[in-house]
Amino acid sequence: MEYAVTPAPIYTLSVAGQSTAFPVNRIFCVGRNYAAHAREMGKDPEREAPFFFMKPACAAVAADEAGITIAYPPKTNNFHHEIELVVAIGTGGANISIEHALQHVYGYAVGLDMTRRDLQLDARDKGRPWEFGKSFAQSAPIGPLHRAADIGHPTTAAISLTVNDASRQSSDIDQLIWSVAEAISYLSEYEVLEPGDIIMTGTPAGVNAVNPGDVMRGAITGLGQIVVRVAQ
Ligand code: MN
Repeated sequence: MEYAVTPAPIYTLSVAGQSTAFPVNRIFCVGRNYAAHAREMGKDPEREAPFFFMKPACAAVAADEAGITIAYPPKTNNFHHEIELVVAIGTGGANISIEHALQHVYGYAVGLDMTRRDLQLDARDKGRPWEFGKSFAQSAPIGPLHRAADIGHPTTAAISLTVNDASRQSSDIDQLIWSVAEAISYLSEYEVLEPGDIIMTGTPAGVNAVNPGDVMRGAITGLGQIVVRVAQ
């Protein structure tokens, strides 16, 4: 195949203990999946159906414990961190049952759903799409994937984020309103899932702004930690 223009690159994540890279397809993000975060966003955390938004593959940045640097994005004065459990889909499918959902998981990682909060809330309040607030390059730093084949399927684990060594977010993934299996099952009713798809499962309370030069350290017990610096 000869392309009319240079094709986009394949964005990849690293895989713990493996030399192969995981190619990122689509990134689906669950909104308001921890009750305390729903409350801080001014919403009732009642268990209504989950909702999703998306980021492009170019949002994915392979992060690691040694530390990476991301750009401070344009057109915002309120650049927020959201620490999240990340799920990577290894086997696609449609109308996946909750019982079989975890068989479709390749692995898990620590990730950040970086958000231009001012643009997101402005769009939300005007009934407009969230894209400018959520869907931009480098808005999803994600650590190495830990294969389900190696670690199983975590259902309880501390999840935390510090900024410049001060605690910002601290919870447990057992507080997810919609479990990983439920989110996969629900999403697969709307869209045929494909290998390479990523699901970011939502953030606990404590979201707040970072500034140029700040260093974020995100961790989930069993999945290691990532260090992400915001460029000056
Ligand atoms: Mn999020």
